[in-house]
Amino acid sequence: MTTGLVDRFGRVATDLRVSLTDRCNLRCRYCMPAEGLAWMANARVLTTAELCRLLTIAVRDLGITVVRFTGGEPLLRADLGAVIAHAAGLQPRPELALTTNGVSLARRASDLRAAGLDRVNVSLDTVDRTAYLEVTRRDRLDDVLAGLRAAQAAGLTPVKVNAVLGPGRVGDAVPLLELCLEAGYELRIIEQMPLDAGHTWERSSMVTADAVLAALATRFQLTPADEPRGSAPAERFVVDGGPGTVGVIASVTRPFCGDCDRVRLTADGKIRTCLFSEEETDLMSLLRSGADDTAIAGTWRAAMLGKQAGHGIDDPTFLQPTRPMSAIGG
Ligand code: SAM
Ligand code: SF4
Repeated sequence: MTTGLVDRFGRVATDLRVSLTDRCNLRCRYCMPAEGLAWMANARVLTTAELCRLLTIAVRDLGITVVRFTGGEPLLRADLGAVIAHAAGLQPRPELALTTNGVSLARRASDLRAAGLDRVNVSLDTVDRTAYLEVTRRDRLDDVLAGLRAAQAAGLTPVKVNAVLGPGRVGDAVPLLELCLEAGYELRIIEQMPLDAGHTWERSSMVTADAVLAALATRFQLTPADEPRGSAPAERFVVDGGPGTVGVIASVTRPFCGDCDRVRLTADGKIRTCLFSEEETDLMSLLRSGADDTAIAGTWRAAMLGKQAGHGIDDPTFLQPTRPMSAIGG
């Protein structure tokens, strides 16, 4: 019988975020320093076979129904199609999604769709070329826009755009939403969290969800979407009477930890029950010491008991996790 991933507060994790690599071809200021980071040695990263085995255990034995591949930049892994094809063959078939910076999506979208990928979230924080270069430290805006178009043409829908607006950049929200409405992408604006490698995040200068909504209201009429939110982090609004919508993810100012249904697997085979966990559970050592599937599933279940009630960003005792976002998997 399948026994799911239940924590001490009765929450059940059914959504697995798998980080495929900590490497990236961009250097977004809220995530990575200009010089990059000390990447994990290849020998420490889960192999294709190890990843596929953990996915099988997660879906078959632990009740995972949604798998999202992320990183670092997941498109940097040459075996992404093979891992997706494996996951698509599992029973019950999980929903398969990808979070990517979109830089090399144009040439991969149709193959990934054929492998079984259902949908993508593409990170794009501004449609202004100079601002894009400033935020990501790379001049790749045109490639990302081409990636978005290719994703939609390949049927990786709904195509979602994830935007994090850095300090002073709330004005980027309006042109981003204009682009998304015109092209048929779903925009989701995410509050910046204290997960940057440089530990420079400050509560006082972050762009809040309220500030985003106020900026959007200068140009659009927003009506709260009439739908149960469940465990979805985005609060959705219908724009100008529909059909377009926009979501805001107020991770810091309106945390949704009480409804969290997520668990994370890092590229080096560690389970994290929260982005902000101080603890990790090492499945890689188990895998490489010959443990059987039952032992791995048992350790994964036990790891859930360490999941905290909330991320505590607003607590005076809050400590930013040692791993930056790129090494956890966003
Ligand atoms: N490289 C891929 C990308 O950028 O989409 C996947 C990994 S990235 C870490 C996943 C998501 O996390 C992106 O949408 C990114 O904007 C977001 N992210 C990164 N650092 C963040 C931070 N400090 N606060 C909030 N979101 C962040
Ligand atoms: Fe790379 Fe994504 Fe981090 Fe940007 S947010 S540096 S694209 S991992």
